[in-house]
Amino acid sequence: MSEDLQSFYNHIAQTSDNPLGLEIDRAEGCYIYTKDGKKFVDLISGIAVSSLGHRHPAVVNAIQDQIGKHLHVMVYGEFIQAPQSRLAGLLCKQLPENMDRVYFVNSGTEANEGALKLAKKYTGRKKFVAFHNSYHGDTHGSLSVTGRNIYRDPYKPLLPDVHFIHFNDPSGLHIIDNSTAAVIMEPIQGEGGVIPADREWLKAVRERCDEAGALLIFDEIQTGFFRTGSLFAFQYYNVVPDILCLAKAMGGGMPIGAFVSSSRIFEAFKYDPPLNHVTTFGGHPVSCAAALANLQVLLEGDFANKAAGIEKTARRILTGNGIVELRGRGAMLGLQLRDAELTQKVVTECFHNGIILGWTLHSNSLLRIAPPLIIELEHLKEIFQRIMETVTKHER
Ligand code: PLP
Repeated sequence: MSEDLQSFYNHIAQTSDNPLGLEIDRAEGCYIYTKDGKKFVDLISGIAVSSLGHRHPAVVNAIQDQIGKHLHVMVYGEFIQAPQSRLAGLLCKQLPENMDRVYFVNSGTEANEGALKLAKKYTGRKKFVAFHNSYHGDTHGSLSVTGRNIYRDPYKPLLPDVHFIHFNDPSGLHIIDNSTAAVIMEPIQGEGGVIPADREWLKAVRERCDEAGALLIFDEIQTGFFRTGSLFAFQYYNVVPDILCLAKAMGGGMPIGAFVSSSRIFEAFKYDPPLNHVTTFGGHPVSCAAALANLQVLLEGDFANKAAGIEKTARRILTGNGIVELRGRGAMLGLQLRDAELTQKVVTECFHNGIILGWTLHSNSLLRIAPPLIIELEHLKEIFQRIMETVTKHER
């Protein structure tokens, strides 16, 4: 056993008894290479992160350029750092008028934490409405609005005034009332099993929030940056949130997140008291430089069509015995298999054959399919055919 491997098992805090345990040598494009000379195709993009593939040259160059200039210089919001300013400017240019301010953080859960605090501070209300089966992250605030009890129960008490309603069900919307600070939701639930919102229902959620004076927070941490075919999923739905939360694919492989809203709403962070939401590393210049290059490449490319092509290829090939349905949009897909046993066999055998697939956090009978958007469709077709052969082989 190598020293690194020993240290991983003996000194890295583990989150389960059976980590995948690949010993990584390097990663490039759609591939991950291990120390023992194996090559894996990454069909989940490090969980919806590496949309431009691993080590995209534009991202790597931007990082190298930035480390030649400066690393951390000051806590958030004090000094003018070009990568932050340019990234915020380019991002806001893509967004509706009510999203003209970006608060940078380091991760998805931090983006949601910030959004929840901002909604409370701006509205002066304390109640949140969230959805069964949602996933918003593992810090206390985000966990409080995550809709799965097995993950919540061990950490109670969480935030007290959180009410869960069913996704895509209009009957629960009356719970959004004039004591509600915000509704937080994923326009397409990811970890809950890749479940897209119905368009009409999502519009009804927006309307109900407007009637109640509650803010609408879209967690687009997984759906953002062309994963579902549009830059952000809300653009496809044509339903604009008050706060937009981002992370994952934003940094092209570097850690960064953000919550975006209007200058009017963000005023709430400036007063009573000043500096009431600060961060040391949020908007780190190297992460911002990477994210800026990542966004520029995404905007210059044809990634809406790429994502649509990925979905079309999947819908053509991933069908047959053992498969219940294929859900999702663009390159955020979930292949619902007959049961957990079949799913386990398919994931394991694909893994041994060099294809990295996975489950979602709340579902053990769903194959997550979220390839890098740069993948060649002919190549993807071949991979899907191999997955189908594996499903057919294990299907009773
Ligand atoms: N929100 C959604 C929709 C996610 O899918 C995730 C992570 O999977 C998070 C929030 C949490 O992001 P992070 O792991 O960066 O904290």
